[in-house]
Amino acid sequence: MRKVTSADSIVTINHYKNLLASEGITAFLKNEHFGSIMGEIPFQEIWPELWIQNDFDYDRALELIEGGKFSEEVPATVWTCNTCGTKNEGQFSACWSCSQVDE
Ligand SMILES: [Zn+2]
Repeated sequence: MRKVTSADSIVTINHYKNLLASEGITAFLKNEHFGSIMGEIPFQEIWPELWIQNDFDYDRALELIEGGKFSEEVPATVWTCNTCGTKNEGQFSACWSCSQVDE
């Protein structure tokens, strides 16, 4: 058994676990119930951890997680121009329609 990674979110860790499972790698969580003991232990010590059953899956697991991080990247939030109501992609700070700057 070997620890692959940890994250501050159980959602993220579960995402990785599913990712590995879909590739046939047996993984399990530790500290998954950290939410219920928050405040009693320093936060970073109780991050949920992802472990794999077989050490020889380690490199492959890391690879998958790196790939998973990439595809999980959240696109910048779409915002709506207050002046003309046009929806703009988050990477633009000014409205493409009327040039109003988002505030
Ligand atoms: Zn506008």
